[in-house]
Amino acid sequence: MAQQEDVFKKIVSHCKEYGFVFPSSDIYDGLGAVYDYGQNGVELKNNIKQYWWQSMVLLHENIVGIDAAIFMHPTTWKASGHVDAFNDPLIDNRDSKKRYRADVLIEEQIAKYDDKIEKEVEKARKRFGDSFDEAKYRETSERVREAQEKRDALHKRYQQVMNAPGGIDLEGMKQIILDEEIVCPISGTRNWTDVRQFNLMFKTEVGAAAEGASTIYLRPETAQGIFVNYLNVQKTGRMKLPFGIAQIGKAFRNEIVARQFIFRMREFEQMEMQFFVKPGTELQWFSDWKQTRMKWHQNLGFGAENYRFHDHDKLAHYANAATDIEFRMPFGFKEVEGIHSRTNFDLSSHAKYSGKKIEYFDPETNESYTPYVIETSIGVDRMFLSIMCHSYEEQKLDNGEIRTVLHLPAALAPVKLAVFPLTKKDGMPEKAQEIIKDLRFHFNCKYEEKDQIGKRYRRMDAIGCPYCVTVDQQTLEDDTVTLRDRDTMEQKRVKIADLRGIIEDKVSITSLLKNLL
Ligand code: ATP
Repeated sequence: MAQQEDVFKKIVSHCKEYGFVFPSSDIYDGLGAVYDYGQNGVELKNNIKQYWWQSMVLLHENIVGIDAAIFMHPTTWKASGHVDAFNDPLIDNRDSKKRYRADVLIEEQIAKYDDKIEKEVEKARKRFGDSFDEAKYRETSERVREAQEKRDALHKRYQQVMNAPGGIDLEGMKQIILDEEIVCPISGTRNWTDVRQFNLMFKTEVGAAAEGASTIYLRPETAQGIFVNYLNVQKTGRMKLPFGIAQIGKAFRNEIVARQFIFRMREFEQMEMQFFVKPGTELQWFSDWKQTRMKWHQNLGFGAENYRFHDHDKLAHYANAATDIEFRMPFGFKEVEGIHSRTNFDLSSHAKYSGKKIEYFDPETNESYTPYVIETSIGVDRMFLSIMCHSYEEQKLDNGEIRTVLHLPAALAPVKLAVFPLTKKDGMPEKAQEIIKDLRFHFNCKYEEKDQIGKRYRRMDAIGCPYCVTVDQQTLEDDTVTLRDRDTMEQKRVKIADLRGIIEDKVSITSLLKNLL
């Protein structure tokens, strides 16, 4: 675990050192849980967004996009339930003065039992070798059974407090924390305050005069911008059910605990798609979208074993089914995307609060009804982090050197091709620039002439550039260059005229999209 934490720290500093992510307002020592994307980060981020947008809007005839404003009429958040219920249960440790989410402390305790069980099973697997019968071992091992019983009892209690009839049972939560003897990781003590609810929305005011000003919120999710535009899009786009509306945009949450770099930020970006369906068909669509979205993730080639679904223990006030897609980060499996069956809660509620009729007239059955909604909601920044974590490698080479390389999927890499003149003379720089001049219309190219070739390769490895081309003496004679592959480090001689054909297909988003069909 300590090793994993070290890796994570290295990834965070790599992100800064190579222009991917900087702390916000860095010269003033940063602002908690707010980050800026640098010259390479913005390219990677834009590519992630493009991969998502195109998979939704280009590949589905019945999905269209919008871009709604961040500020919305304040009643939106009354109708959506956020003013009353967008809370996290918080608890403080009196000794360290650190604040935690009480639900997260309990979930981490459940995960500890899970880890313990898995470790026992792994140990036994090694001991018994080929003859290992896992199911039988789980049943018969005293230690595994005991840990499993404790885990299940805790899980059941947790579900009960989260789903208590009058809302989350805050006293019950505290009691679990005390009974499980959960300690603050900083102070190591169990000196906890009571659990309180904390609303996560940021407030601000519109209007100049204090008397005339009214309170508005920074949106905590992009979804509501879609719901309030449902009628506009359905009518103007003559959309027929089922259909979807996609949107990418900023969202803001005053997170209580914001310690894991860009995993949990106060200002972040979401890619959300609301899919409107006929009532009664929603659970089938929920299941279809689960598969579609998992395929989108696994298409990046990070290995199916690094993803899992995690069904929610507590359903949000609007949902009748919900699951998360989790990815194996260096700090455990963590949510990257949520898929929710939101029923007709949002549209009905907006109809009630606005007094407008928000329905769909079904020409096949001649009925009017409020559509049900399946939502897929993914954080751009979390996706970015998962890609960074999986791509980062400190590779030991045969000569004993370590090279730091980002194995980014080529289609997402910030720079696709670096072109180097071997030396700064004999017309090599001009030749290299000529190559770039031709190729820059097709993908992002970078010119580098400083330092020895080996160092230039390392710099490109560190930003995940999949291809490097070197212009040398022979280039000037026969118009061929060496093309070096980031992952295998193999070099081959190719004609300049063939470069585009070799590279373009591998680095285009289209190459990723084609595998989705
Ligand atoms: P969590 O349980 O981790 O707080 P959530 O269940 O509240 O997340 P959703 O409301 O389902 O998250 O939001 C959808 C997606 O938006 C998440 O899967 C995540 O990728 C992203 N997201 C949510 N909150 C944050 C945040 N504070 N920083 C970065 N990304 C976030």
